[in-house]
Amino acid sequence: VERVLPGFYKITLPIPIQSLKSVFVYLILGENNENLLIDTGWNTEESLDSLRTAFSGIGFDARDLKKIVVSHLHPDHFGLSSTLKKEANDSELMMHKDDAAGLRKSPEDYERFIRELQDWIAMHGTPPEELEAMMKSTAPMAKYINPAKPDTLLSGGERIKVGAEWEFEVISTPGHTRGNICLYERAGSRVLFSGDHVLPTITPNVSLGPLYEGDPLGDYLKSLDSLKKLDVSSVLPSHEFIFQNLPSRLSEIESHHQERLRETLAAFSGISSKKMTAYEVASKLHWYAGSWEKLSPWEKRAAIMETLAHLEYLKRGGRIREVVEESESGKRRFFYSIIVK
Ligand SMILES: [Zn+2]
Repeated sequence: VERVLPGFYKITLPIPIQSLKSVFVYLILGENNENLLIDTGWNTEESLDSLRTAFSGIGFDARDLKKIVVSHLHPDHFGLSSTLKKEANDSELMMHKDDAAGLRKSPEDYERFIRELQDWIAMHGTPPEELEAMMKSTAPMAKYINPAKPDTLLSGGERIKVGAEWEFEVISTPGHTRGNICLYERAGSRVLFSGDHVLPTITPNVSLGPLYEGDPLGDYLKSLDSLKKLDVSSVLPSHEFIFQNLPSRLSEIESHHQERLRETLAAFSGISSKKMTAYEVASKLHWYAGSWEKLSPWEKRAAIMETLAHLEYLKRGGRIREVVEESESGKRRFFYSIIVK
């Protein structure tokens, strides 16, 4: 536990993702026993134990929780919602309506989603042997499903009060997920809870897929832009560390994606007549782990979907063409080629 401000605590919880190791949730205490928990941590015993220990260190009881806001539907942010709701019956669970729509209601529902995901990855050119490994790496996620029904659906612009001291404005920032939100404290501290949307050194996955069609990268870049007008003292993210100077970080992330867009176009160089699947494009790009071969099946799946978000953005900008071919068996396959001007 770290006290960020008087009555404002950052709590570090373990998560079963090696590259990230932990997630931060924030507990805010206001007058008249009002309080707010921002995000919940992963649905594991270990995480729940850590949260309980942190609460007792602050002298807080989970049964007294009044408001829980979830920044987005990923398991490290939403996972313990149901457990905490059971503990604090009267608490109000809030999340954006567009992410609430993507919540899995049952194991069957989750299996259906996995099949959809598999078809999606296949039609974007993933070879069958790799497809199997990718889906196997996704399957264990099912055991973490513990859905809670949100009490309040947010759409951005709401003000969440916690005592007289705090007032959090909900800012809709789609991109990492369709219903991703940030919270800006307007009562005086001017801190921004940025979730996964803005992190100090890494960038969140921005993916086109069955959960997020449309233009996720376009949305993400607009969401970054929308934060520029805020006067922010400190940025409180979900991973890594608290930082200042939001404007320079926003520019860095924008440049990162511009560079990725250039790299994506460059993957077609020398083969301007040729069409490639998203899988082929992704395998030509540089990834943080080094070459394509070094990525795990899980990372490869994320990389293909991230590449697709960039291809979609370039397609909308008139730089890339999408061609859909249908096999005799009725299976569709998507290809991309560069538009030479
Ligand atoms: Zn996330």
